Amino acid sequence: MFKAIQIDKTDGQYAASLVELDEQALPEGDVTVEIDYSSINYKDALAITGRGPIVRQFPMVPGIDFAGKVIASDSADFAVGDRVLLTGWGVGERHWGGLAGKARVKGEWLTKIPDNADAKQVMAIGTAGFTAMLCVQALLDHGVKPENGPVLVTGAGGGVGSCAAIILATLGYQVTASTGRPQEADWMRDQLGVSEIINREELSAPGKPLQKERWAAAVDTVGSHTLSNVCASVRYDGIVAACGMAQGMDLPATVAPFILRGVTLRGIDSVMVNSAKRPAIWEKACQYLTPEVLSKLSEEYPLTDAITVAEKLLDGKIRGRAVIACKA
Ligand code: NDP
Repeated sequence: MFKAIQIDKTDGQYAASLVELDEQALPEGDVTVEIDYSSINYKDALAITGRGPIVRQFPMVPGIDFAGKVIASDSADFAVGDRVLLTGWGVGERHWGGLAGKARVKGEWLTKIPDNADAKQVMAIGTAGFTAMLCVQALLDHGVKPENGPVLVTGAGGGVGSCAAIILATLGYQVTASTGRPQEADWMRDQLGVSEIINREELSAPGKPLQKERWAAAVDTVGSHTLSNVCASVRYDGIVAACGMAQGMDLPATVAPFILRGVTLRGIDSVMVNSAKRPAIWEKACQYLTPEVLSKLSEEYPLTDAITVAEKLLDGKIRGRAVIACKA
């Protein structure tokens, strides 16, 4: 038996609760993992609270990421004892996920934990940090250099935003953080290495199609008017890596920044990234988001607190990353 968060929908009533499950109940898959850590991402919070249509079938164990040790395997790629992690692939949405003591999944969804990292570090990074690394990689691939000017990160107080800010600052970029939490300004400056902080209200209302060129590049976790205003304010030939929708799914923009300033809008998806590309991104993420760095932007909670943490995250009360210890 192991503990898990389970989401049920009976007679239209949606509810998440802590339950005890038998290993027999686990879904099909060729690898079974004993989970040490998972985390609460925005998507997990929407799933657990039911505030967003994330869960596709019931009952569901949420948790879009996890890390632990292989305890049974029919996969040629994984042996008992291997240290593995998983992010995405619809786990925690369509297939039982990581907010549990155990999971059974397809081996092709797993990535080996980098040699010098451990389960806690990779889950302090989690889907959010992996996505942040994908966003920063898009900026690097575009050729953005620190001397080109400041880089904007929106939703900087959240998981993806805080990880992106700290990676960029470590790489020598001057980072501007957009946030709705001015009370976190000292933390952002001192711990994330942010140079400038702007109130997210500066970007959240409808704006002009082209605005003053302020940033060499941007990582946007917010979408909607914020993303439109960010595209309208990025310098000539700049790039915006867009991964989120915390303000909204809409994009009320014009083509002006793209056709008059050559701005690139690069979409970032972490869920279906090709397995072959993942190890290198994880290596890099672990290189920049070390345990010491992560201690400044993550907090550990027991599995029994996962539901409360999910609610707090959507209320903007979780700073950075929430790591969940799943081992009983
Ligand atoms: P968090 O909840 O940790 O962070 C989101 C942040 O967005 C908040 O902390 C807040 O930052 C800001 N925010 C919230 N509401 C609003 C609003 N109405 N207007 C403007 N800003 C707002 O979530 P994550 O960091 O885990 O995820 C961020 C986004 O990225 C989500 O939309 C998520 O779905 C998406 N995502 C996408 C992935 C992909 O593969 N494309 C993978 C992972 C996440 P502050 O308080 O600083 O203002």
